[in-house]
Amino acid sequence: MEILHYPHPALRFPACPVRHVEDSIRQLVQEMKRLLLEHRGLGLAAPQVGYPYQIFLMRADREEADPGQIQVVINPVLSEFRGTVEEDEGCLSFPGLYQPIRRAKTVRLRAYDLEGRELDRTVSGLEARVVQHETDHLHGILFIDRMTEAARLASREVLEQLTRRYREAQRRGKIPRDEVILEQLRELASRQSAAPVAAPQEV
Ligand SMILES: [Zn+2]
Repeated sequence: MEILHYPHPALRFPACPVRHVEDSIRQLVQEMKRLLLEHRGLGLAAPQVGYPYQIFLMRADREEADPGQIQVVINPVLSEFRGTVEEDEGCLSFPGLYQPIRRAKTVRLRAYDLEGRELDRTVSGLEARVVQHETDHLHGILFIDRMTEAARLASREVLEQLTRRYREAQRRGKIPRDEVILEQLRELASRQSAAPVAAPQEV
């Protein structure tokens, strides 16, 4: 498993809610934790590693090496967006790209953790930024979609470079064709939607 870079189609594929936490989901979260620590990120969403499930990880400190400090967030719902603040933002799927993005200052997060415990917190500051960025990933929304026109223009070269690198990897057969990837994503999504509907406590 590795972190996928723009313009991989998994980054645009809407993630489905997790209905049942089975071993494969626990394994996925384990692998995502390893990658988050290795890349010293603050957040990582399942679509960024090619799994169309509503799961993301977040943490407060990129220097912290303890995987126990990583919060697992499943099926998040955001509400009560308050205030706006513009700060530089980056994304592990866009290496080398940092641009100011406007986000709500505080937001209410309701979700579940891996043990099925309910999370209901109002978050602010950097945590609110990470929560909004990662929840966007679960809906196929990327931070470039939230950039101002000026920031998007300033990003053009990096985006073109990433696109060239991606197509080149496809030409060399290191990445499957987009149609093959989409078929895999649909298959993975159907595994969760075919799972028995769990009560929220069992999520
Ligand atoms: Zn991201």
